Amino acid sequence: MTEWIDTHCHLDAAEFDTDRDTVHAAAYAAGVHEMVIPAVDTANFEAVRACCQNHIGCLPAYGLHPLWVTRAKDQDIDTLHTWLSSNKAVAVGEIGLDFFVPGIDPVRQKRFFAAQLDIARSLNLPVLLHLRRAADEGLKYLRRARLCGGIAHAFNGSRQQADELIRLGFKLGFGGRIRELATSLPLEAIVLETDAPDIPPVWLNRGRNTPAELPRIAAVLAELRGLTPEEVAVSSRAAAHSVLRIPDRTTKEKHD
Ligand SMILES: [Zn+2]
Repeated sequence: MTEWIDTHCHLDAAEFDTDRDTVHAAAYAAGVHEMVIPAVDTANFEAVRACCQNHIGCLPAYGLHPLWVTRAKDQDIDTLHTWLSSNKAVAVGEIGLDFFVPGIDPVRQKRFFAAQLDIARSLNLPVLLHLRRAADEGLKYLRRARLCGGIAHAFNGSRQQADELIRLGFKLGFGGRIRELATSLPLEAIVLETDAPDIPPVWLNRGRNTPAELPRIAAVLAELRGLTPEEVAVSSRAAAHSVLRIPDRTTKEKHD
């Protein structure tokens, strides 16, 4: 069976509180055997950990999302560092900069971003990036940070920005709205994501997005690139595994 990894899925979100098991089972049955679940602030660290303990193939990441920094406290940086030192994680995330949504202090965003890049470097962990209208600014920090790489989730920048991220060890995440750029980038630089429950693909007609949509997202990319879905599955899975700290499944079925 074709095996997929959804590299960005908020399965812990409240939108899934009534049917999380069903949503997970449907994705798993569709071949989505791995799902990266990124936290967004300290308040959902426990929920992300529980979601990953209770659902096969779910892989946790922990970080402070740029859109949540207004309610984050300075000590949350220390909380994150302590948490990552004692809990397994495939990456630090999701972290980044968002200059699209108005009213989120850019200075505060940059301070939290820089502090979390320091944590990632000190623990030698990759990062899951949320960069919206902020790719050039984010790149300034990433060049200095000298990380082991990661994923630029929902990548929406230019080819030049993509090339620079790739040079720094990053893969680029594409989801339900595949962009022109995804047809010309090196295939080995591309990973797939749903970003569920957000960003529903066009065929869902604004309904709730779920990780079970991943194979269809991949089919769109495969068609555009003249590849088989199987080729896209193998490539995007290898790309994700090359940057994330994913434990060996032969020794352990659930991630704890
Ligand atoms: Zn996200």
